[in-house]
Amino acid sequence: MLEPVYELEDVTFYYKKGRYKANDGISLTIYKGEIIGILGPNGAGKTTLIKQMIGHLAPTVGSVKFQRQEVSRNTKDVIKQIAYYSQETFALSFLKTWEAIYFTGRLKGLSKKEAKQQTDNILLRLGMKAYRNKLVSKLSGGQRRLISLGTTLIGQASVIILDEPTNELDPLKRKLVWEIIRELNYKGTTIILVTHNILEAEKVVHRVAVIDNGKLLAIDHVEKLKRRVDQRMRLEIYA
Ligand code: ATP
Repeated sequence: MLEPVYELEDVTFYYKKGRYKANDGISLTIYKGEIIGILGPNGAGKTTLIKQMIGHLAPTVGSVKFQRQEVSRNTKDVIKQIAYYSQETFALSFLKTWEAIYFTGRLKGLSKKEAKQQTDNILLRLGMKAYRNKLVSKLSGGQRRLISLGTTLIGQASVIILDEPTNELDPLKRKLVWEIIRELNYKGTTIILVTHNILEAEKVVHRVAVIDNGKLLAIDHVEKLKRRVDQRMRLEIYA
């Protein structure tokens, strides 16, 4: 029996005091243990949707439930179970790489021993062990993204939301991130992967939700969807 993790119903979000509709009536269920892709061109409304799923924004209309509980700005218990990797600039650049991951782990409630152990494993898995004592501000853009991913991984959340995690990464690192996603999912983590690249979706996700112009156009297995995406999406996706 499939167990819902997220239940989104008619989610609609307006920016600028009701003048700009970034999400328009999105209804979607995400199940425990799946890797779901949220796919769509730039400006489609993907990040806006995710921000409502983690309680950073409240839907103008509709509801977002996490494990049957309404998500709102105040649902701290809900948020603890979710790790979110955002595209926004990484805030911990004044720390050394190991500190950025370690202290994020401590903030998530890990013991010193557990945080240290997880930090070491994460740095190793990300191929960043040699940079452990380097300041985050002195890393390359791609390396900084990997350390930001490390802060998402520490704490081993049951649901991980990744907003375009392979941006700026070279092909080998991109492959590494895909492998990490598959490993996490194998251990039972539910993964929500935001991307505008259907090839990336094809590599890792089970189902994909296609969003354009704030609307959910389709939700299905990648292979089936590939045949259905219209020419406009195709041009954006393969560009
Ligand atoms: P991308 O792939 O480029 O990251 P996206 O699918 O994540 O795009 P969103 O960031 O959700 O898209 O943006 C959806 C729409 O809402 C866009 O047209 C964007 O210009 C608008 N938007 C996003 N953030 C704001 C904001 N803070 N104020 C007003 N409009 C916004």
